[in-house]
Amino acid sequence: MVKVVEHKGFNLVTVDSGFEIKAKKIIYCVGYESKNLLKESFVNLKSTYAVVSEIDNDKFKNIGSTLVWNTDDPYLYMRTTDDGRLLIGGGDEDFYDAEKRDAILHKKEKEILKTLNTIKPDYHFYTDFVWAGTFGETKDGLPYIGAHEKFKNSYFVLGFGGNGITFSVIGMEMASMFMKNKKHPLSRYFKFGR
Ligand SMILES: Cc1cc2nc3c(=O)[nH]c(=O)nc-3n(C[C@H](O)[C@H](O)[C@H](O)COP(=O)(O)OP(=O)(O)OC[C@H]3O[C@@H](n4cnc5c(N)ncnc54)[C@H](O)[C@@H]3O)c2cc1C
Repeated sequence: MVKVVEHKGFNLVTVDSGFEIKAKKIIYCVGYESKNLLKESFVNLKSTYAVVSEIDNDKFKNIGSTLVWNTDDPYLYMRTTDDGRLLIGGGDEDFYDAEKRDAILHKKEKEILKTLNTIKPDYHFYTDFVWAGTFGETKDGLPYIGAHEKFKNSYFVLGFGGNGITFSVIGMEMASMFMKNKKHPLSRYFKFGR
């Protein structure tokens, strides 16, 4: 989606192939790109890091389905995967510049594995992949889901937060209710300008 022109009763959307879509309603679920659409300050973008080990079904047997999230700042979380890997994440930084973020990938990998070593000194962790991503933090940890006064015939579903994926199910329910002109009880907690 590269351009939206508002008309009476509908929006005209241009997509990157040049085609136009006439839409009665638009649901913007564009993640942190919404920061370029909305003028107000509503989300703080950060960088986060994750490391996953090689497959080793024997080594991780004893931690099986354990899920860890510590109370440190920045936090560290870890769990095993179905295919026998240990996945660890954390090392959050307060900036989101992608080049700057990726330049310290291996420094972050070392930091995360050093912390793992203090928790589980007997584990020899063999890194398979390491990656980073941008995520959004809001003032109250809740997503922004609902209409915005500047965007006619439109709704936003922005699942920000460290638990943003869980908000996607609620967002789906809410969006389908909005489309039927129904209200949702959580709207007041997730609305813009709250
Ligand atoms: C490393 C990492 C680990 C995470 N771990 C967890 C976790 O364990 N649990 C959890 O709940 N959350 C986690 N999160 C957060 C979670 O990923 C986000 O909160 C969630 O993905 C937000 O969902 P969203 O649909 O709002 O946005 P996104 O998932 O960012 O989706 C937005 C989509 O819109 C597309 N888009 C943007 N602009 C346009 C445009 N103009 N036209 C067309 N498409 C567009 C983007 O390409 C993207 O695919 C993690 C995030 C990261 C980076």
